[in-house]
Amino acid sequence: MAAVPRTYDIIIIGGGPAGLTAALYAGRNMEHAVLIESKAPGGQLLNTELIEDYPGIKSILGVDLAQAMLEQASSFGIEQVPAEVTAIHVQPDGRKTVQTTDGDFEAPAVIVTAGGNPRKLGIPGEEELAGRGVSYCAVCDGAFFRGVHLAVIGGGDAAVEEAVFLTRYASKVTIIHRREQFRAQPLLLDAARRNEKIEFLLDTVVEAIEGQESVQRLALRNTVSGARSSLDVGGVFIFIGFIPNTRLVDTHVDHDSGGYYVTDPMTMMTSVRGIFAAGDVRSQLTRQITTAVGDATTATVAASKWVEEWKRGLIDTSAELVEDMVEGVV
Ligand code: NAP
Repeated sequence: MAAVPRTYDIIIIGGGPAGLTAALYAGRNMEHAVLIESKAPGGQLLNTELIEDYPGIKSILGVDLAQAMLEQASSFGIEQVPAEVTAIHVQPDGRKTVQTTDGDFEAPAVIVTAGGNPRKLGIPGEEELAGRGVSYCAVCDGAFFRGVHLAVIGGGDAAVEEAVFLTRYASKVTIIHRREQFRAQPLLLDAARRNEKIEFLLDTVVEAIEGQESVQRLALRNTVSGARSSLDVGGVFIFIGFIPNTRLVDTHVDHDSGGYYVTDPMTMMTSVRGIFAAGDVRSQLTRQITTAVGDATTATVAASKWVEEWKRGLIDTSAELVEDMVEGVV
């Protein structure tokens, strides 16, 4: 016989800054809520070296901010379950069943703060040499490459910021970007340009990562001239974006072209009533720790109000319009 699902009012999925903020608000407001996270709490904070743009804190290590957020949320008694969420099933009456590696959970409101995973290049050698010179996390793996010439692929904030970080260890860091213009903020780009250990290879794509036991060289192509070349490196760090974990819900949820959930700006509710989103899963201009915690605050307050209305039978679960909900909760 299938085990009876554990029931709550709010289920928070993910334990990054957004999830921990949702847990803090839910715990402090005495919600009957649970946070489900399969890995160490902290999310992308654990992949971030130094944080200098969190208001009120001049500078803090990502790992320390993660710990502080966890302790604060825990102090308000939020229940935490270490499990992986495998699916979210929306029932006709508005309840959601969250299937996990530790059994099923049920609640009318779910806040998805599941973050995402690094985008892969999908080129020969990437998978074969993963963990043997191919990395997606500078903070995790940088120290293994002391005195080594490294390549960083990408032109966004992550690539440029992590390239600067990697110069602590590497003899040289070559940033390889497929065009001339960068998405990265000018401030980060300036720091990279001023760094003597960093050089840029622009209008260039990596076609293959080569090596026997570990990464030895990259096969390159210039996108303008078409010329092929190779670059000897001892490791390659890939920062070409992020794929949000937005495939858990077993029904259609409105999303943008990148797969990020489109949410109501007033409530953070997705197109599925009672499913809220916060942090890196949400479609928005920028994905910062500050925006993640802001999203989560709104989502938790709105989710709490949604649950009250749902319990009083005021929610028409058959209707699709989130606009009604905005009026209902604010
Ligand atoms: P991103 O901003 O989406 O940049 C991805 C970069 O990878 C782009 O330059 C893109 O090139 C390139 N790229 C994508 N697919 C590629 C492919 N197949 N081959 C080669 N290059 C490819 O991603 P991100 O840097 O991971 O940043 C994600 C979000 O986190 C952003 O909102 C960012 O602001 C934020 N973030 C902020 C900070 C900070 O503020 N300190 C640090 C890290 C991240 P094109 O430009 O040609 O498309």
